[in-house]
Formats: sequence, structure tokens, C-alpha cells
Amino acid sequence: MNVVYLSIGTNMGEREQNLKLAVKLLTETDGITVEAVSSIYETAPVGFIDQASFLNIAVRLKTKLSSAEMLNVCQGVEQELGRVREYRWGPRIIDLDILLYNHENIETESLIVPHERMFERAFVLVPLDEISDQATEQLRSAHKALATMDIQKEGVVQWKKAVTVEEFVRSES
Ligand code: ATP
Ligand code: CA
Ligand code: CA
Repeated sequence: MNVVYLSIGTNMGEREQNLKLAVKLLTETDGITVEAVSSIYETAPVGFIDQASFLNIAVRLKTKLSSAEMLNVCQGVEQELGRVREYRWGPRIIDLDILLYNHENIETESLIVPHERMFERAFVLVPLDEISDQATEQLRSAHKALATMDIQKEGVVQWKKAVTVEEFVRSES
């Protein structure tokens, strides 16, 4: 079994519902067991800043799927929720990024893991740290990187406290 951490973000429409539906779709995917979902954090936009604030979570899952198959699943969930690709870092209904896949370093045309920008993003590292077991060097690096981000961290505010995966998905209606 492979251990995978995802980052999920949304800043359009019913943001909380978007997150819940995305996790629900993951739990319903063959070969994936979602093990933990972080608290929901609200984050001011980064990059293209003239847009609505984001809700962000991190998810830990176990899977039989390869990293390429995981990317397909993530993109399938984005499509299912009706994500329209406009421009990078612009508003989006849902965005699923693969942060870590075991302790592997992956570099293909369509997939780079660890996610290239994760170590500089408090909105990724804060939720990740909450569900991380510090089991790999990459996770320990993420934890350490976060410790140097005092100012950035202030922009990542807990918006709804963590619940079990079952509860997170159940309240999706
Ligand atoms: P960022 O990557 O800075 O978070 P983004 O999420 O807005 O930006 P997208 O438009 O969603 O970027 O994705 C662009 C491409 O990134 C995808 O088509 C995918 O092939 C590629 N990609 C590379 N590494 C990853 C990864 N670890 N997780 C998800 N997509 C990835
Ligand atoms: Ca992203
Ligand atoms: Ca993405």
C-alpha cells in the first residue's frame, strides 16, 4: 500500500461543499482508502490576489494506485466538480494536488512529487502538518519549513475543526 498526501483547495461557489464532495469522490474510488482529513483552513489568495479567499485541506490516504493513476483520479475529481481550466493560479472550483507519494521523488512530464511549491506554501503546510505522522524525511522537512513561516502562517486561519473522515463525508448533502 502506498501512502499519499493531497492538498485540496477551492475559492468558487459553495466552497465547503466542494471540499466535501471531492473527499467523498475519493472515498468512493476503488483502491483508495482516505485515512485522515485536516481541519478546513481559510487562506488569502496568493499569486493572482484579486480573487476570493480559499478554503484548503490536506488529506492522507492509502492506495494501491500508482502515482500516475492517482493524478488521473485527482483530475477526474476536478472534472466531476466542473472545474474549468482558465488560467494558472486563478479562481477555481476545486484543485487537487499530489503533495507526497510515499517518500518518492517523481519527475515525469505531467507529475512532479514532492509538489514543487509545497515547501514554500503555508496554506499547504499548515493543514499537512496537522495530519502528518512525520514518518519520512520529506514530512519532517515540511514540518521544519513551517516553523520558519511565522508571518505567512498568520494568513492561514482554522475555519472548521477537523472531524473523522466518515463525519466529513457524511455532512456532504
Ligand atoms: P500549482 O502547481 O502551483 O499549485 P495549479 O495547481 O493551479 O498550480 P494546475 O493548473 O492545477 O496548477 O496543474 C497544472 C499541471 O500540473 C497539471 O496538468 C499536472 O500535470 C501538473 N502537475 C505536476 N505535478 C503535480 C502534482 N504533484 N500534483 C498535481 N498536478 C501536478
Ligand atoms: Ca495547486
Ligand atoms: Ca493543481
